[in-house]
Amino acid sequence: MTVFSAKEFDNHEDVLFFHDQKTGLKAIIAVHNTTLGPALGGTRMWNYDSEEEALADVLRLSRGMTYKSSLAGVNLGGGKSVIIGNSRTDKTPELFEAFGRAVDQLGGTYIAAEDVGTTVPDLEVARRTTRHIAGITEGNSGDPSPATAWGVFHGLRAAVEFELNRSDLVGVKVAVQGLGNVGYGLCELLKDAGAELIVADPHEAAVEKAVKNLDATAVPIDAIYDQDADVFAPCALGAILNDDTIGRLKARVIAGSANNQLAEDRHAKTLMDKGILYAPDYAINAGGIIIISHEGPHFDRDKAMLQVAGIHDTCLSIFERAKREQIATAEIADKIALERLERVRNEKAELALAS
Ligand code: NAD
Repeated sequence: MTVFSAKEFDNHEDVLFFHDQKTGLKAIIAVHNTTLGPALGGTRMWNYDSEEEALADVLRLSRGMTYKSSLAGVNLGGGKSVIIGNSRTDKTPELFEAFGRAVDQLGGTYIAAEDVGTTVPDLEVARRTTRHIAGITEGNSGDPSPATAWGVFHGLRAAVEFELNRSDLVGVKVAVQGLGNVGYGLCELLKDAGAELIVADPHEAAVEKAVKNLDATAVPIDAIYDQDADVFAPCALGAILNDDTIGRLKARVIAGSANNQLAEDRHAKTLMDKGILYAPDYAINAGGIIIISHEGPHFDRDKAMLQVAGIHDTCLSIFERAKREQIATAEIADKIALERLERVRNEKAELALAS
């Protein structure tokens, strides 16, 4: 296995491998960049086909967190952790306690949170052995999904304003893929704003609830791409914007919560060439990281949600600059994130020189 010459390695500051024989824990923690603050990112538990795949995932995801926090304007760095194992069959409290001890060894350089395959209760167990866990404590920020949905709602509004020249969502047709924690919350907000909903999810109960309570029109899972909608809101899977699906979309706006929506980087340009406005995933789904960044003894939910609503302006400035520079929105988001990192790095260097 290669680390420093792995394709996904991007000058990561730390990559740590943990093994606990007693509990069977096999985990990797990657700290990509701490220029802006301690590295925060979720803990993914996944049955990887190989250790190389787990390493590639943690390297890629931790880098993504650096960009997400930077663009969102929060003072957190980028990190991520993976636990190699089956999240349905391999979980034990002892395993998460061992994971907590691993996190603790980094002394706060890395802060763990919930991600695919881990739940808030899992992280509560890890909290027994480290205090460097975020996004769990009730009364503090708790489940980040409502904040994520709130941020997506405002990013979507910005996209509709910019591309469809509409200042409200009344009658705007939104095709929502995925009615989970974020997708359903987004549907509620859209409904309140007067939008018409088209929904798809393999989970029948969620679909029935949306049809009954939100007047949504249900369509088969694969048909969601073909809908006559103004907006496509992917809130389930990654890589759904690909050579097959992009040609099928009738929507002129893509604005949803899913991570890694583009199957490949080149698809950002394909969307631009087709005249589809893409709200970059990590810009529009940053509500969770923003609310977590407010955690602390003086946590103020209203203040945090106000900053989350600022995703509207962040998205708008991405769209405007992309139009000005004739560059895909995803590329502009990366540029803005890197510019902030560079600025803070230079400020810190100047301060260090002056002291
Ligand atoms: P979730 O697991 O609660 O919901 C996902 C939903 O997608 C489920 O209802 C599932 O049945 C459905 N789904 C699965 N396959 C589908 C398919 N082929 N077509 C339609 N629906 C399908 O997850 P979530 O927390 O709502 O997150 C949704 C997406 O947003 C994920 O990509 C996640 O990584 C991303 N995200 C979530 C947060 C957050 O705060 N929860 C933050 C940032 C990004």
